[in-house]
Amino acid sequence: MSLIETVIRPDIRALSAYHVPDPSGLVKLDAMENPYTLPDELRIALALRLGDVALNRYPVPTYAALKAMICTTLGVPAGFDVMLGNGSDELISLISVACARPGAKVLAPVPGFVMYAMAAQFAGLEFVGVPLQPDFTLDLAAMLAAIAQHRPAIVYLAYPNNPTANLFDADAMVEIIRAVGETGIVIADEAYQPFAQASFMPRLPEFANLVVMRTVSKLGLAGIRLGYMAASKALLAEFDKVRPPYNINVLTQATAEFVLEHITVLDAQAAQLRSERGRVAAALAGMGIEVFPSAANFLLIREPDADQLFARLLERKVLIKNVGKMHALLANCLRITVSTPEENRVLLDALQASLVL
Ligand SMILES: *Cc1c(COP(=O)(O)O)cnc(C)c1O
Repeated sequence: MSLIETVIRPDIRALSAYHVPDPSGLVKLDAMENPYTLPDELRIALALRLGDVALNRYPVPTYAALKAMICTTLGVPAGFDVMLGNGSDELISLISVACARPGAKVLAPVPGFVMYAMAAQFAGLEFVGVPLQPDFTLDLAAMLAAIAQHRPAIVYLAYPNNPTANLFDADAMVEIIRAVGETGIVIADEAYQPFAQASFMPRLPEFANLVVMRTVSKLGLAGIRLGYMAASKALLAEFDKVRPPYNINVLTQATAEFVLEHITVLDAQAAQLRSERGRVAAALAGMGIEVFPSAANFLLIREPDADQLFARLLERKVLIKNVGKMHALLANCLRITVSTPEENRVLLDALQASLVL
């Protein structure tokens, strides 16, 4: 046996590495990034702030100041706290590790965010995917049956969901949270909350097993890698035991504190993107393209020959995400990030030209 075969887990060897295309020279509409940067005066002020950061020191591992700012600025209910992650991806991994008792299971609707299943596998948890309905709404009966059968330790509900863009019915989510009850936790993953204007955060006090997870990535700070999750202090204290002590670096910490002082700038960018979302969705529908409802900063569309459309857009230097192979329910679906009016115009022109070819 080779070194690799001897040392590396067979299930890891069987994986193919996550492929991220090189976006240079392309209009990048594949990763739900915010296209806007900070205004110049804020960038200069941030540079001065970062110049004062003690790079020679380890971070203070409680992150008390940043956590307090997140709680007050971003609506965490009184009596609840947050835990920080190097992106919410890290939080998903840490939750999996903390809950990986022998035989423990993770359950989520599919198609959904791929990290739920990957983090489960890496931590040795079984992943149970419950298909959505063809219109991407929750199949509540199937969810409740799967919960009764599998008694999952962790249930993920992305609100809104990626890659389908829709908000699940809040009452159905509450039924799921209640059905999971005392034998599991439910994570409301609100990565797109700034574009959804709906949230389970205010409802944390109602459910002892609810965790609300968010990230600053889609809000305009994907590069700093910062996610947070709010839950009861007792639950967070357990998750905190598996967190690497210095998982948030001092530059991320200082940048996040600075930006939270100017959160209205990002809020205005999110509002602009919400309005562009409506405009782009209407334009796509006007071209005869099927567009699904979106509460996120991206649109899911379906076209009879989506692979060809994807390739033609790429020829015109527009990169979107072809999700058609991710799940049977997503056949011929493409995911498009909503961007600036200028980039959206480039997209719509490229689509128009590609459709008439
Ligand atoms: C993008 C995304 C995340 C991960 O965000 P990071 O904080 O950048 O790791 C989590 N959940 C969903 C549903 C996402 O789309």
